[in-house]
Amino acid sequence: MPFTYVRYRGVVQVQRGLVIGWLCILTFPMDALKPVVFCRRAFLTTTLSVPLQSILSPSLSVLLAPEVDNPLESTPLNNNSPVLVDSDSSWIGTNLPRISLTHASTSTTMTVWPMGRWPDPVLRQPAEPVSSEFFGSTELQNACWLLQNTARHYHAVGLAAQQCGVNARIVYLERPFFRSLTMVNPHIVQRSPETKMRVWTEHCLVLPPTFAATVLRDAWITVEYQEASTGTWKIVTLRGEWARAAQHELDHDRGILVTDHVELSELENDLMRSIETAGHAGRMELAYSRAVEKSAF
Ligand SMILES: [Zn+2]
Repeated sequence: MPFTYVRYRGVVQVQRGLVIGWLCILTFPMDALKPVVFCRRAFLTTTLSVPLQSILSPSLSVLLAPEVDNPLESTPLNNNSPVLVDSDSSWIGTNLPRISLTHASTSTTMTVWPMGRWPDPVLRQPAEPVSSEFFGSTELQNACWLLQNTARHYHAVGLAAQQCGVNARIVYLERPFFRSLTMVNPHIVQRSPETKMRVWTEHCLVLPPTFAATVLRDAWITVEYQEASTGTWKIVTLRGEWARAAQHELDHDRGILVTDHVELSELENDLMRSIETAGHAGRMELAYSRAVEKSAF
């Protein structure tokens, strides 16, 4: 008798669960989720390795501030140019020259690197790996210190040297209550399963602050990187906010922005769409590629 009663209660509870589940599915605003998730799925299932294309377009030149000869001796925002992205915003795109690691780290005039500002073409140029002769050098130590200083100046959770026009794969992560993390030549060697991807709303320092993108990121990633002082390979698994931030910064290293994680229709305005249209499809495939690199271990 007790066994029958337990079985009866179990059947009732399963039935209740099914009814509640179906009610949730029927009442959930699936239409709102479609543009966020379903479009991304198409890219996730066709992860291709595609060459990064330039966003240069005929209208781009009129949106950028004049290129500066030496960004390390100019104002960080290069904001002396009256060039606006649109009439409702005071956003000014930079036109930073790409500088080498040596050049970026030997400046004595600034303690903060200038920040690239969309649609600066330098933001679309993938950063090159730091070569072995730099490990243990004053140049690389200075560069790491400047990157950390710049991140803290802008109150950034993470920052890639590439965002500042520096041609070097270095990523900094601010980790309150933990040691901050400076990763040279970081690359992802393992990702959480695709089914565990998380939805985030992201802003970016190089984009107008009014723009937010809804993106999908891996719940956790394992990253290999080299220590600046010795060149020793290290491994770290990042979860939650740090996994999100690291994926965002590793995108910068590849010349990918959060604008590449959304459909053109989700961009802020027609002007943004007109600039981002060229090469957007290819960059979106790259943004959603879940490829991993070979482990150094
Ligand atoms: Zn960013």
